[in-house]
Amino acid sequence: MRIVYDIDGQNNHENLKYCPRCGTLLGVRGLRGHPRPVCPNCSYILYLNPAPVTAVIIERDGAILLVRRRYPPGEGLWCLPTGFIEQEETPEESAVREVKEETGLQIEVDSLFDSWSSSEDPRTPIVCFAFTAHILGGTLAPGDDAADARFFMLAALPDDIAFASHHATLERYSQKLPRGDRRRSRRPPYDPDPNM
Ligand SMILES: [Zn+2]
Repeated sequence: MRIVYDIDGQNNHENLKYCPRCGTLLGVRGLRGHPRPVCPNCSYILYLNPAPVTAVIIERDGAILLVRRRYPPGEGLWCLPTGFIEQEETPEESAVREVKEETGLQIEVDSLFDSWSSSEDPRTPIVCFAFTAHILGGTLAPGDDAADARFFMLAALPDDIAFASHHATLERYSQKLPRGDRRRSRRPPYDPDPNM
């Protein structure tokens, strides 16, 4: 594995100084043991939750579908088809949409294979649901977000996988390991700036 994103905890939400609803300077309040940015004017509470993401494992004849990323993070590196879940979607619907957008293939989700929390995306902490799925139709062609999309034999996956979490779940999948020890982020808990 060549490059892995392991970011030092920059998060635009944590760096917010002003209430996104009314523009007042945010304060910090301990709520059930968690320090949270809170607006002293309108009581808006900024919950620092991970953004939900899906990733999809599609095996065909012993090969796995990977996408070469066109954009950062991990530009030029390979990963499972993946993306953020939209507000109106179920995780399964998100998985179907992302695969269609990135690879041109129509899939059906089979089951949840793995899940993890991660701070390896510099844009935001994420929680990822990795599904297995099978192909219903379509023609394999990289979409707008993808520089390439192709199948790799499980025994000959590329070295340059964009995310440590994708590498780990591919490892788990190829070794037929049971799901169980769910990995969590190495990201430290929110530690408010005393000057906020
Ligand atoms: Zn406010």
